[in-house]
Amino acid sequence: YGSVKSMDEIEAVGHRIVHGGAYFSESVLLTDEVLAKLELCRDLAPLHTGAHIMGIQGCLAAMPKTPQVLVFDTAFHTASMPDYAYVYPVSYDMYEKYAVRRYGAHGTSHRYVSGECIKLLGGKAEGTKIVTCHLGNGSSISAVKNGKVVDTSMGMTPMEGLVMGTRCGDMDPTIVEYLAHSLNKSLEEVMVILNKKSGVLGISGVSSDFRDLDKASNEGNERAKLAVEVFSYRTAKYIGSYIAAMNGVDAIVFTAGLGENNIVVREQVLNHFGYMGITLDKEANQIRGEEKIISTPDSKVTVAVIPTNEELAIAHETVALLK
Ligand code: AMP
Repeated sequence: YGSVKSMDEIEAVGHRIVHGGAYFSESVLLTDEVLAKLELCRDLAPLHTGAHIMGIQGCLAAMPKTPQVLVFDTAFHTASMPDYAYVYPVSYDMYEKYAVRRYGAHGTSHRYVSGECIKLLGGKAEGTKIVTCHLGNGSSISAVKNGKVVDTSMGMTPMEGLVMGTRCGDMDPTIVEYLAHSLNKSLEEVMVILNKKSGVLGISGVSSDFRDLDKASNEGNERAKLAVEVFSYRTAKYIGSYIAAMNGVDAIVFTAGLGENNIVVREQVLNHFGYMGITLDKEANQIRGEEKIISTPDSKVTVAVIPTNEELAIAHETVALLK
């Protein structure tokens, strides 16, 4: 489009990196050592890490002198999550030897919307308790206390946690073995089913897209209705558990494709919190894709829709690192 006339105009490149493993708890300037460590994250996110490295090498070839910054989707979580939230209840050896632990995902989005929410709450992170709900095709929830993550729903990989478009989220792990036997499939084949054919797509048999599910529900499709109900119910259970994790809550934030746009899900989720004095302003909740407080003025907890902006957050991180 002519917005960049020469590569020399680009002063820095910010890369979104899905998994920084235990190596990166903050954004970093690219060096040979950093690239070598990123290679070690391949096992944790094989598809993404390979693509990231190709992107980095492409930028290095086109702009060898331009600084490159890596911004990790795990960093906001791994920087502050306490060990009792990230250690899994398996042999401790698995953590020490194989780095099996919770890392979380969507950290750049959780950081951005919790930061915007802190502005809404008065601007001081200290003393704030926020639950951020990044609900999209992939969904995750974080508990952010004093501006720092204390727990998050995605795990070692983005399979854990909420029900997603095509991923199962939390589930009895024995089902994996049971399905392998029952369907006469390999472990890898069962994992493909749980990754690509489960979630709301699997329950509804209709679609992974909530627009299709809403339409089918309105036309009387019971399984589409059930899929949305399972999604909302499990989301509410996570919010409840994170309120317990923080011993309170000042604000709940909805973001990403679904959180920003799906009126039905927001209402179904918030219906579980009447006992806490959270009241939804049904008229305000009719919005899509814009920042708005959707709780009533007398609600005990502020509920807000805050559109995420991961690109802007990455640009800010990049500029901050160059200074
Ligand atoms: P994401 O992965 O963040 O792009 O979110 C994808 C999900 O958001 C899909 O289930 C869509 O149904 C939903 N979504 C995205 N845009 C809209 C919209 N304008 N209206 C309703 N739902 C939307």
